[in-house]
Amino acid sequence: MSVLVVGTVAFDAIETPFGKTDKIVGGAATYICLSASFFTKKLNLVSVVGEDFPNEAIQMLKNKSVDTKGLQIKKGEKTFFWSGKYHNDMNTRDTLDTQLNVLENFDPMVPEQFQKSEFLMLGNLMPSVQKKVLDQMKRRPKLVVLDTMNFWMDLFMDDLKEALKEVDVLTINDEEARQLSGEYSLVKAAKIILKMGTKHLIIKKGEHGALLFNHNEVFFAPALPLEEVFDPTGAGDSFAGGFIGYLAKTNDISFENMKRAVINGSAMASFCVEKFGTQRLLEINKDDVDSRINEFVSLAQFDIPLK
Ligand code: AMP
Repeated sequence: MSVLVVGTVAFDAIETPFGKTDKIVGGAATYICLSASFFTKKLNLVSVVGEDFPNEAIQMLKNKSVDTKGLQIKKGEKTFFWSGKYHNDMNTRDTLDTQLNVLENFDPMVPEQFQKSEFLMLGNLMPSVQKKVLDQMKRRPKLVVLDTMNFWMDLFMDDLKEALKEVDVLTINDEEARQLSGEYSLVKAAKIILKMGTKHLIIKKGEHGALLFNHNEVFFAPALPLEEVFDPTGAGDSFAGGFIGYLAKTNDISFENMKRAVINGSAMASFCVEKFGTQRLLEINKDDVDSRINEFVSLAQFDIPLK
């Protein structure tokens, strides 16, 4: 099944306790596509970059079977830029700079051939742009997943709530779930958020795993305990890419299969954090992914004999 991905394609500058990068290629849609490419070869990208964005990076996406027909390249403009610094715990970070540049006037155009994509991943971006993409679909996708962050909640909470009415799965982190719901308890927060319209909610808790909720059930997936976390940038997006990529591959959106998708997403996120930026996602292969999934299976599997 095909997946339409919308989100940022960006330059990032990252600082962690282990080092610092100059401008490197990042962006939510970049991580989502790289991660999802391990599960499906039908990836359609809608995004925008400036004239300063390197051709090799676009070629890198094409090499991963990403169709870049929907990637606008704006003459004379600059690519979205984000810079962040991680605290020692590597779970929290400060955004040092966000330069919207091409995003400021971004009018997404979904090419005709993409308008019937079966799965839609609304990656982190202005909620109004996410909604515009959804509105251009010729038929309602089988599954719509939306990812967002505090930055957009601070600026456009009303637009976000409007978009949420049409979403099947919302993925956010624990702090964002608290901000969106106004509740500290994540279980109470989930109940409030599910009333906003999304049918499922995934709360990502960094090294503490992820929770999947619907109105009746809850599932918990651990994060793989890693000896070294080098750079968490893109972990959430790699999670989303693995999640939707697996669902598209299996073409099954039942809650049972979503549990497996959460494990696949967690496996992809665990690779992403092992090196700076997209580096690790670019060097692994499908066998690496399969053996990591096996590690998750043995990590979380137990058998309790009851009398
Ligand atoms: P994650 O670590 O999964 O939250 O994603 C990090 C990626 O999100 C980086 O590559 C950034 O370029 C991108 N990013 C940071 N801030 C924003 C924002 N406000 N909107 C969209 N993408 C963003």
